[in-house]
Amino acid sequence: MLSRKKKANQALEEHLGRYSALVKDLSEIEEGVLRFKSKLVAVSEIASQYYCEKKVELRRIHGEEETPQIKEGRVAHDLLLKDTEEASTEEILRKVFLGEPVMVREMRLLGRHDDVIIAGMADAILFHGGEPVLLLEHKFSRRPLPFRGHHVQAGLYCHLMNLMGWDTSRTKYALVMAPPECREDGALREIPQHILKNRGERRLMLELESGCANIYINDFDPAKTVDDLNWALDFWRGERSAVPTKKHGKCMVCQFNKLCTASPVKQN
Ligand code: SF4
Repeated sequence: MLSRKKKANQALEEHLGRYSALVKDLSEIEEGVLRFKSKLVAVSEIASQYYCEKKVELRRIHGEEETPQIKEGRVAHDLLLKDTEEASTEEILRKVFLGEPVMVREMRLLGRHDDVIIAGMADAILFHGGEPVLLLEHKFSRRPLPFRGHHVQAGLYCHLMNLMGWDTSRTKYALVMAPPECREDGALREIPQHILKNRGERRLMLELESGCANIYINDFDPAKTVDDLNWALDFWRGERSAVPTKKHGKCMVCQFNKLCTASPVKQN
């Protein structure tokens, strides 16, 4: 019988082998067959399709300047990494496969769904007993409620973990909505413990120094996630045109509203 350590090493080797095979496949493709000659599709772009797919298309065509909101979001995510140990992927995964409780921040995820390679980087994943038990996605916004795209994004990270070989049948994901001024609040890094202490709760709130974090805890729904993904991939496979949002409020603040044929701002 294999010892726990040997089993963990075997699982680690298999995992790294699958990951490297995908990276090799990607490096051997000169030009992708997807829209915009893409070799893969990023989870963040798929999530953005649920905000406005037309905007995803225009961003690919015209590029996007870094807006203050994008910059602030990046800084906020860097702050969440403060006080975390930098360790090699191999070191982290060895602990994961040994079944130790491990919180992995900014974990790269890569998987093949049908004929398309999907890539993403999850904010934080808590592993326990060798499986992902909780995925956390942070959003800094005045809006206390998550958008549909936020659920799609977190669901896709769970789906990718499943494609990478993990059992996700008990995986939950938490969307953490906090106001932008709370981005430096150290208490945000204690949210996983807060969720574990309140196991079974679907909605939690955490008082921060200058606001409140609203935490939404959900079960990963594989069938729904695959449906969401397949709809998004129809666009990348060129099977349909980009769908614009119907919400005028989004168009009013969109940087492409002067170029976009679907924009009410342009028509006025
Ligand atoms: S103007 Fe509106 S429809 Fe056009 S890309 Fe922007 S948000 Fe989408």
